[in-house]
Amino acid sequence: MEIKFVTTTCPYCGSGCSFNLVVKDGKIIDTQPCQRGPVNEGKLCPKGVFGFEFINSPDRLTTPLVRKNGELVPASWDEALAVIAENFAKYQPDEFAVISSARCCNEDNYAMQKFARIVLKTANIDHCARLCHAPTVAGLAKVFGSGASTNSFDDLAIADLVFIIGSNNFEAHPLAARRIMQAKEKGAHIIVCDPRRTPTAKQAELHIQHRPGTDIQLLNCLMKNIIENDWIDHEFVENRTLGYDDLKACVAQDKYSIENTAKICGIPEESIKQALQWLHECQHKTAFVHCLGITQHTVGVDNVRSIAFIQTLLGNIGKPGCGVNALRGQNNVQGSCDMGALPNVYAGYFSVMNPDLAKKVADYWGVESVPQGQIGLHIPEMLDTLYEHPDKVKCMYLMGENPVISDPNSKMVEQAMENCEFLVVQDIFETETSRYADVVLPGSCYAEEDGTQTNAERRVQRFRKAQDAPGESKLDWQIMKMIAEKMGYGQYFQWETSEDVFNEMRGITPQYAGITYAKLEGDGIQWPCPTEDHPGTAILHINEFAGMPEGKAALEAVEHREPAEVVDEEYPIWLTTGATIWHWPSGSMTRRCEQLDKDAPTAWLEINVKDAEKYGVKDGEVVVLYSRRGEVEVAARVIPDIKEGVFFMPFHFTEARANLVTNTAYDPVSKTPEFKVCAVNIRKKEA
Ligand code: SF4
Repeated sequence: MEIKFVTTTCPYCGSGCSFNLVVKDGKIIDTQPCQRGPVNEGKLCPKGVFGFEFINSPDRLTTPLVRKNGELVPASWDEALAVIAENFAKYQPDEFAVISSARCCNEDNYAMQKFARIVLKTANIDHCARLCHAPTVAGLAKVFGSGASTNSFDDLAIADLVFIIGSNNFEAHPLAARRIMQAKEKGAHIIVCDPRRTPTAKQAELHIQHRPGTDIQLLNCLMKNIIENDWIDHEFVENRTLGYDDLKACVAQDKYSIENTAKICGIPEESIKQALQWLHECQHKTAFVHCLGITQHTVGVDNVRSIAFIQTLLGNIGKPGCGVNALRGQNNVQGSCDMGALPNVYAGYFSVMNPDLAKKVADYWGVESVPQGQIGLHIPEMLDTLYEHPDKVKCMYLMGENPVISDPNSKMVEQAMENCEFLVVQDIFETETSRYADVVLPGSCYAEEDGTQTNAERRVQRFRKAQDAPGESKLDWQIMKMIAEKMGYGQYFQWETSEDVFNEMRGITPQYAGITYAKLEGDGIQWPCPTEDHPGTAILHINEFAGMPEGKAALEAVEHREPAEVVDEEYPIWLTTGATIWHWPSGSMTRRCEQLDKDAPTAWLEINVKDAEKYGVKDGEVVVLYSRRGEVEVAARVIPDIKEGVFFMPFHFTEARANLVTNTAYDPVSKTPEFKVCAVNIRKKEA
């Protein structure tokens, strides 16, 4: 019997915890703490402890599947590759849609965007950051010139005030939340703005339970009062920002008064005044933390910009214990964006609209040109086009994603998948989406590959191979290399190891230029790391906002706007959706982990006790939740902790899909759907 311990990083949330996989006779049997972990110092949340159990699940894909006579049947790699190569050759670049995955490592995402751009010659490449933090990337880039979190988790622990808005980090990012609790133990104030009294809100000194979709109203009110009380950092605003007068004129309007804001947000005036007092007292030691409660709105980009504005007015950027700290959803959302698995940028955030940068990328890859001058389709646009105009997008190549569960309006997504003429799904399990595939390819999971991922504080860390992938499964980048070879593009994919892919990537990605696998043997490296002797960067924008006009942050007027769908007589309740501590997005991994599935075996609908009384609904009773898109049966959980007039439903469960009712409306800039607000109603289930 041989037992070994392999240190790796967690495949779930963007905290990026390290742990040891315990391997017995070549199979993973457990996890053990890794005390050296720079993020988690040996601690793990339930997903970190029990979330390995899916790896050796008996229903892992072990061979390719090819559709024959309407059925997906096992096939050889040769056969599957031949079918793919023959069909991919039929389509024009604009007829492809390629979806990469933030669950996968940097190497796989780099390979996927290169495959899309060189082999399929399409601009239509995107990944699931679209569903979560694309507004953070777009919003922070607009204000600061970089779409990444400005500070490190260590800064949360030394803040005097942690202002959390739209983040239930106790459940979604528990080990990042531990840093916030360290600040609290030292006497820091914690404010949580959330329509639900979440486990995170219960830890706060001040819980502002505002109505979903009123974040800008609240933030503008705070800025109005900060300016009127003359609490801004004049030196910072004068020397390091442009556009202050526009922002000032906007928030000065009467509609952003404390009285009106309390009315619109549905909160006591006193809570706004208390928040203001602490923002003033703790200036230069205030960290803002946000997550999907801010981003998954039709105003998601402007929500993020408003957070950036308030921190800029207070001079809380480029300093320890401060900053705008976005808790990235999935493990590698940051890295997948950095790798250029996006329709508007290549790796390193080189714009596809800049011909010089397009030429630089093409030259580096040794090809005549790469798609440029056109921003490709974003995921919601891919699905809309497949649904409404299947003659325009005909072929989809999808890695590690399950849009039928993850995207809003599931019925529409199912029809879009049905309409897709040729669909290739690359995953580790058959999924609700792979049911529609023409070819299914067996990929690998984090424990079966060497690679890297980048957490929410820009820390690049290693995945390390602990066991072989099952059956004939292959590494995801190897699969793309095989398809490329079959299609006559093998010369551009001459990698033998994951490290080869990484080294090619860092040659064209300035933020990663100085990072090597050897350097990652320690605590990981936070980008930017421009040269091999550079230690990495814990805090951004210390002296200037590089890449912005005059090196200055861009302030601007941003008005409060209501969500795309508002409550009315027919649909009088706001629905908000989110994650739980036990499961991860579509549940394909965590629901195959016995302990996690036992702790949270199915979905529920949180209803305030007063609403339950109005509807005559008892705790545990199954109700029908419905919206303009569809309906779903779900058990009611009657609690006092959610705001009256608001329901909450977790989104992980295929048998009770929250996304049957959510709205497809999306932010006009980031194209991120408004998962966090739609109008719904309930009725009793017929006996
Ligand atoms: Fe994994 Fe996140 Fe839990 Fe850490 S906090 S163990 S990264 S799920």
